[in-house]
Amino acid sequence: MLSLTPSQVRLGWSATNKAEAIRLVGQVMVESGFISPGYVDSMLKREQVSATFLGHGIAIPHGLPEARHLVLQTGVVVVQFPAGVVWSEDGHAHLVVGIAARSDEHLQVLANLTGVLDDEARAVALASTLDTAAIIQALQGSLASPEQDAPAFEGLSRQVLSPSPHGLHARPATLVVEVVRRFRADVTVHHEGRQANARSLLSLLRLGARGGSPLTLTAAGDDAAAALLALQQAFDAGLGEEPPAAPTPAPEPEPAAVLDYEGTLVAGLSASPGIAAGPVWAFQRERLEVEERAADAAREHQRLESALAGAAAELRQLHEGFLQKAGARRAAIFKAHLELLDDPELLRESHGLIDTGLSAGASWRRVFESRAQALAAMDEPVLASRAADLRDVGRRVLRPLARVLEGEPTFPEHPVVLLAEDLTPSDTAKLDPALVLGLCTAGGGTTSHTAIIARSLDLPAVVALGPSVLDLRDGQHCILDGDAGVLVVGPSARDRARAAHQRERIRLRREEEQVKRHQPAITLDGWRVEVAANINEAAEALKAVDAGGEGVGLTRTEFLFLQRDEPPGEEEQLHAYRAMVRALNGLPLILRTLDIGGDKHVPYLSLPAEENPFLGVRGLRLCFEREDLFRTQLRAILRASMEGPVRILYPMVALPEELAKARAITESVRREVGAAPVETGIMMEVPSAVMMAEQLARDVSFFSLGTNDLTQYLLAMDRRNPVLAPRADGLHPAVLRMVDLTVKAARRAGIRVGACGGIAGDPSGAVVLSGLGVSELSVAIPSIPAVKALLRSISLADAEAVARAALECGSAAEVRGLVRGLLARKGAKA
Ligand code: PEP
Ligand code: MG
Repeated sequence: MLSLTPSQVRLGWSATNKAEAIRLVGQVMVESGFISPGYVDSMLKREQVSATFLGHGIAIPHGLPEARHLVLQTGVVVVQFPAGVVWSEDGHAHLVVGIAARSDEHLQVLANLTGVLDDEARAVALASTLDTAAIIQALQGSLASPEQDAPAFEGLSRQVLSPSPHGLHARPATLVVEVVRRFRADVTVHHEGRQANARSLLSLLRLGARGGSPLTLTAAGDDAAAALLALQQAFDAGLGEEPPAAPTPAPEPEPAAVLDYEGTLVAGLSASPGIAAGPVWAFQRERLEVEERAADAAREHQRLESALAGAAAELRQLHEGFLQKAGARRAAIFKAHLELLDDPELLRESHGLIDTGLSAGASWRRVFESRAQALAAMDEPVLASRAADLRDVGRRVLRPLARVLEGEPTFPEHPVVLLAEDLTPSDTAKLDPALVLGLCTAGGGTTSHTAIIARSLDLPAVVALGPSVLDLRDGQHCILDGDAGVLVVGPSARDRARAAHQRERIRLRREEEQVKRHQPAITLDGWRVEVAANINEAAEALKAVDAGGEGVGLTRTEFLFLQRDEPPGEEEQLHAYRAMVRALNGLPLILRTLDIGGDKHVPYLSLPAEENPFLGVRGLRLCFEREDLFRTQLRAILRASMEGPVRILYPMVALPEELAKARAITESVRREVGAAPVETGIMMEVPSAVMMAEQLARDVSFFSLGTNDLTQYLLAMDRRNPVLAPRADGLHPAVLRMVDLTVKAARRAGIRVGACGGIAGDPSGAVVLSGLGVSELSVAIPSIPAVKALLRSISLADAEAVARAALECGSAAEVRGLVRGLLARKGAKA
């Protein structure tokens, strides 16, 4: 049992900054015989990984786990800084509790501190008290033994064991709360001198009960016996936890594709190749601002209640959805979130703060943030990761109580592996590639815009990792393997060395491809496939040429319209398109007209929210609704065409009359600006267009296969849906048959057909599309040298044979297997 003596408490100290304060605290710890001096460095390092500020003026500096050998004896010291020390952006520390812990005894201290944290007035008093005993009493009281502390209890009790392997963390604790809610009895869980209200998830979490540790359940009330019996049965059944023998939560990825990692594997989908290693960092998209005070407390109570009800409804819906799509285990997290919402302690305190004059938003934020900080500071990873849940739930409730500001994402000063629920194009556009080693998302699919941007930035990316990755703490080390589509959490030294080796191999192969990047992609039997670039902005045109691109096959011009408050005018657009034409210096430039809608939101256009935005007013349809935007863009494109070979590409054509209308508007604008006629083409990305290809081919010079959308529309699978993503593969034979129909119609009409969707840059896709007769592949800039090298290493005859066989396959996996076979026979570098 830990104890605190007067010599371990120092009052009235001052420090100019956090580092100085930590050194002072470290000195007291050394004097108390708890640590060797070297441990202080580790305490300083820990702050860089995550600040140890708990809230209410309390910080708990302690070393990193690897420095535990420098702990001589478990113990705590308390140094009071009445004037405060800036600890983190969240606040000043007045009471600094230095912790030296050889094992997990300090969990107990943390749990006690969270007790002090619950009582703001007490924390404020301790910040300036002149009474050492007051501090000792505040902490020691809860450090004392259960016998001393436990109130006289009159009722029933039972002994149970905390569930293995991870103890009483959120999922099992949720189950405890659920069981207790069926009864009227007051049930308390006792663990090592602490007590928790069994109806409160947070209270249970704060017990810090590790797997297999003994717990006492006590109950009072008319149905106490029944409640205890039900609880005992639930504990005996393991509280829904899997037995330790089968602890692997992530589905096993394909063995052939995965390095033999020793860290915990979380399987997702490969969205962009390459390997990154570094700390994870959670991307925060929104900034939520709340009014601090509010005059009408009754109204604020009501606002809070309705925000809570709204969040609960959302969570119930998410739970239902995930239950059906992904099974009970994955859905359980939303249930745990629901329980957090219903936590009596959180609610009581929030309403209490409203009564002191705070607004509903400020009260709620204050309470959930201080709890989350306390949880995050725990050394027990499973418990610490619950902070992410609490913050997630907290923000869900806060959103309707706050003003939502699209904030600039904050980045640490060192490079990180960026972690996000999902990233929109405007999020990804804000990223600073120098500070992002790789991208991983809980949601999204391989054709989502996260994937597209990652490929264009040459960043490894893994998507569809599932919601559990959002539990990772900022700063936790991981390896992101974009080739295998996995995230390795807590990699071993061997994992790191292997990843470094793999990175080196990739680097050497890329170097070889770079040398030949300006040579054309001519197959062994003399068939030339043009390899062009997909770009989003003017600055990329030069990079495309430098990477060996033989033109630009797709410009996603909508990126010029994102991240701003009003649309770019004609002159601004002209400037951008002209810069592209000039950079390409005679090579063709395909400018796709605006494709806004779907997952590309443009707030200033104030478009009505749609139930199914991918099936709504998107692309050309929006251009017809907002003909002003369309005409302005066409004017700029046509004026730029006077300087070099520009072609116009219309997105989302579903019906022949849409093409006719787009062409008519283009023709009228052309006459206005006095430009010469330009070639026009359409994206083949809606199944109806493919079925009408013969007719459409009469009116255009080229088709460009948008396999990203074609796949989602044909297979009826939302391109961002993480559950469907593994099946939404553009190499599905159904999609390939559409490609085949398109190529045949184009050949009959004598027009060109290219492909600019994600599979064009995927090695298997490049082979099969070429074999089907697609003669231009437009790919992300970094993929250009690799696609060219690959095509040079095979013959068209082989690609055609594989493509013919692919059309007869039953699944995308079979198609990929066929290509792997071909490449293995040829010794090609896929
Ligand atoms: C596509 O749909 O394949 C495509 C290239 O367009 P986007 O990804 O921009 O929708
Ligand atoms: Mg598309």
